[in-house]
Amino acid sequence: MQLLDGKKTAAEIKIEVAEEIKRLKSNGGKIPHLVAVLVGNNGASITYVDAKIAACKLVGMKSTIVRLNDTVTEKELLKKVDELNKDKDVDGFIVQLPLPKHINEKKVTEAIRPTKDVDGFHPSNIGKMMLNLPTFLPATPFGILQLIERYNIETNGKHCVVIGRSSIVGSPIANLMSRNSYPGNCTVTLTHSRTVNLAEITKTADILIVALGKPHFIKPEMVKDGVVIFDVGITRIADKSKKSGYKLYGDVDFEAVKDKASFITPVPGGVGPMTIVSLLKNTLLAAKDK
Ligand code: NAP
Repeated sequence: MQLLDGKKTAAEIKIEVAEEIKRLKSNGGKIPHLVAVLVGNNGASITYVDAKIAACKLVGMKSTIVRLNDTVTEKELLKKVDELNKDKDVDGFIVQLPLPKHINEKKVTEAIRPTKDVDGFHPSNIGKMMLNLPTFLPATPFGILQLIERYNIETNGKHCVVIGRSSIVGSPIANLMSRNSYPGNCTVTLTHSRTVNLAEITKTADILIVALGKPHFIKPEMVKDGVVIFDVGITRIADKSKKSGYKLYGDVDFEAVKDKASFITPVPGGVGPMTIVSLLKNTLLAAKDK
């Protein structure tokens, strides 16, 4: 078993991004600027946004957090999005999801100017991705592709099984793995909660991408020997022995499954850090494309 070390790979990519930013700066270019809009006090969202901002600082990228109260109206949030769309100093921005229930996430996502949509969630960017045109790829799928490339994992002709069909992870990664390119050229099976005999399908996977949000769902009897596993799931479970008060669990029972896998991502330290560097790469791209 070889560990797909997202933490280490992300650190290497951060050095490359930092060098690129230095080059831009020394050529008299503008320093890329990422803005994160954070609504309310959701603990996980605050942690994610803090990690994104810390990563920006580390690579010399300008970053700003816009914090809004969870009582903010949809109209007020859309006004903020419009301001950021028009702000010439902002190269890219994200609105951290989930949003409070009274706000329509779809409406907010669609209001973001596609050229600043560094999360890659706008329908126009998703459409470009489907057509294999240059665009911002959604950060988590983009992170998985980079891990595949950096570890030289063969994908051509492989059976890739994806669990979960969310618009931010499962659906886009299923599309990307089936594209006629590297990484890609897989035969893809996209599964979800209505899939019958899921374990029969996962047992045939050469590459298994798990994104359903159920801790330790994947057990050894559900995979074949030599499988490559990407565990996207992150669930926080209260744990008094931890300083943070919680422990993070992936969707894969790592300890039980790892010896059957040829490559596997841990949680934490696998797909998560790769998601963050993908956001940095998209912001750099947004700044350069101006
Ligand atoms: P999501 O919106 O939470 O949806 C879950 C998906 O899993 C749905 O498509 C659902 O099917 C499917 N599902 C649920 N139970 C299932 C079962 N028993 N068998 C098969 N499929 C099942 O998905 P998400 O937003 O992609 O999040 C998934 C997990 O990834 C969460 O733990 C989240 O925190 C984590 N995540 C991590 C990162 C990262 O950077 N590492 C990024 C994003 C998300 P239906 O469509 O039929 O309901």
